[in-house]
Parts: sequence; C-alpha cells; structure tokens
Amino acid sequence: MPDDGLPGDWRQWLGDVLAEREAASLTRRARSLDSAQGPRVLRDGRWLHNLCSNDYLGLAADPALRQALADAVVRVGVGAGAAGLVCGHHAEHAALAEELADWLGVEAVLLFGNGYLANLGLLQGLAGKGDAILQDRLNHASLLDGGLASGARHQRYAHRDSDDLARRLHDLPADTRRRLVVSDGVFSMDGDLAPLPALTAVCRAHGALLVLDEAHAFGVLGEQGRGSVSHFGLPAAAVPLRMGTLGKAFGVYGAFVAGPRLLIDALQQLARPAIYTTALPPALAAATREALRRVRADDWRREQLNLRIAQLRAGLLAQGWTLMDSATAIQPVLLGSAERALSLSQDLLERGFLAGAIRPPTVPSGTARLRLTVTATHTAQAVDDLLNALAELAPRYLES
Ligand SMILES: *Cc1c(COP(=O)(O)O)cnc(C)c1O
Repeated sequence: MPDDGLPGDWRQWLGDVLAEREAASLTRRARSLDSAQGPRVLRDGRWLHNLCSNDYLGLAADPALRQALADAVVRVGVGAGAAGLVCGHHAEHAALAEELADWLGVEAVLLFGNGYLANLGLLQGLAGKGDAILQDRLNHASLLDGGLASGARHQRYAHRDSDDLARRLHDLPADTRRRLVVSDGVFSMDGDLAPLPALTAVCRAHGALLVLDEAHAFGVLGEQGRGSVSHFGLPAAAVPLRMGTLGKAFGVYGAFVAGPRLLIDALQQLARPAIYTTALPPALAAATREALRRVRADDWRREQLNLRIAQLRAGLLAQGWTLMDSATAIQPVLLGSAERALSLSQDLLERGFLAGAIRPPTVPSGTARLRLTVTATHTAQAVDDLLNALAELAPRYLES
C-alpha cells in the first residue's frame, strides 16, 4: 500500500466506520446530475422523474432567476471577497435583507451562509451555560447540533406535544437564566406542522423565546408564502425569531433569520457563523431578490404544488401505502426497515423515478421510509406515472 500519511489506528477506525455502515445498508453516497435541477433530471445518461428535491416552487432553474444571476454576475462579480463585517457586505445583501423583512412584516433580517450555519449561529449565539433550550424531538439535525454546541441545558420534548413542553418548562430548575424553545415549522422527514398556536401560548406563559425553523414552510405555506405564522393566522410577533433557508423554495442558496431589530442586532454581534465567514456572493443575493419577487407574487406555483400534493396523497392512500400525517409537499411512505426502504427506492429507480430512502440515524430506527416530494413544476401526468409504478410494486411491499 502506498504511504498516504494515515497513521495505522486512524486507518483501522476509518475502515471500520465505512464497513459498519455498509453492513447495515446505511452508507450514503452522492450521485451526480448532468442536468439542471427540475421535475426531470439527467443522471448516468438517463432522464429520471425527480421526487426528492426541495425546489418546491420550481425556481432553481427558472429562466428569470437564471437571467437575474447572470446579469448580476456581470455587474458585481462572483465572490464577496471577505466577511460581511470586514468588507464583503454589498448593497445587494442589504437590499435583500430589507425586502425579506418587508415580506415577513418584521423589523430586521440577518443573512447567513446556509440554514445549517444559521441554526448553529442563533442557538450558540443566544443561549449558553445557565440557559435552557427545549426542542421538538424531530427537529432538524442542525438545531440539535446547535443546541448541544451552545452549552445550555438541552432537552427534547415529545414530537408536537405542547403539554410535554409546558411540563418541562415548569420543571426547569429555579435558577435557570433564560428559556428558548425551538421547533421546525414543517418537519423535514415527516412533513407535519408544528402546533403553532399551542406553542406560542405555552412560550408566552413561561416567558420562553420561541424560535421557528421555516426551511420547508417559507414560500410554500401562508399568504405570499410567508410560512407557518401566516398559515395559522397569527401576527408576525407571535414567533419572535424565524429562520429560513434560501436553498429550498427560493431555489438559490443561503439563509436568514428574521425578527425584532434588537434581536437581529444582537445576533450580528453574537452569532459566530455570521461573523467568521465569507459573505454570500452578492450576485446570489441579487438573484434571490428575484426569487423573493416570484415567491410573493406567484400564487399559481403554490396552487400547482397543492394540486400535486393532493393527487399524490389520494393515489397512495387508495393503493394502501402507510402515509404520515402530512398535508405538505413532503409525503413519507413508511416501510419500517432500512432494507425495505432501500429496496423500494431501487425498484423505483429501475422504473425511472428518483426517490430517497430515508434511514436511521436521520429517522428513528424502525421508521425507515421512502420520502417523496413533489413540486409546482411536476405535471399531473408525472404524478400519475409514479402512482402507476407504485401500484405495480405494491403487492411486493404491502402483503404480510
Ligand atoms: C434543509 C434544512 C436546514 C438547513 O438549511 P440549508 O440551507 O440547506 O443548510 C435547516 N433546517 C431544516 C428544517 C431543513 O430542512
């Protein structure tokens, strides 16, 4: 073996890690696309129906966004060149932040490199030793990581259970300094919604700051795609801090947090992932401004998306598959074991459909699933084709 510099004990450990994953059908592999993101994608020389993107509104390859980005690159260049607080902050970033704040009806917005960094930054920035963070058990990995990294007392309450949350807040030690409650707005692996009216009431009663991760809600739910708060008819102030990614329904890349100026100003000082990192490319901010205009104006995209969700869900239920309590674009088909989920995903791939098998540790063991997502740019025919393929496979997976 040529000397690659790895010490022997490291080589042993790394090999064991990979072998264990492989033996448990848990190896993750990135496969390359040769086309733009969209309802059909080219992979390994085959065009496949794509049922695993988060490009809910079909903006990732939208002609107007492509043009906006191309024009902006010519005007402002490619990279930001520095962190925002040094000299990387551009007028395009400022305009985007202002327009996002206007859209959500909040005082201020702070941009981040991506949603993972935003969640890490806001939790690590706002909470520390002496504080308590309470999170829904099924929150996104970035929130769990941020909570653990913060050094605060960290607890996970039962999924969507505001009574369990209230009990835990009540039982916190008397010397707890501040309380922070975090939930996904739409849960990324189950597709169900946080019980927002109950969460806001519990947080108010216990003086806890509520933070909502709207990664799968912004652009999709509520008036003008304003997310869960609008969906439930609550005022913007009902949830003091909201996080959104620009990589899902916005079709671009990056993330932001939105709230009162006091909170956003403090985060700019405290959130290390907003300080010690290069600013987003300014051209990307310009393209995102065009994405925001589409998100606000294009109700037809949300209408198309909702039609496809209803069509998919009705078809799957009629065939007898086990679905979850989801009315969103995320429709998990429960299969139980990682092997079954992987096998269905492979059977679909042979028939020309790309759908992700979601396995532990991303979801609890025994709840491996096929995670189907539809977008505004899927046709009714494409969803019918998928349902026909699943109907053919159903006998193999549904008997027992
Ligand atoms: C995707 C996702 C994130 C991370 O956002 P990125 O911009 O992709 O880093 C955070 N929270 C939730 C719930 C997500 O689904």
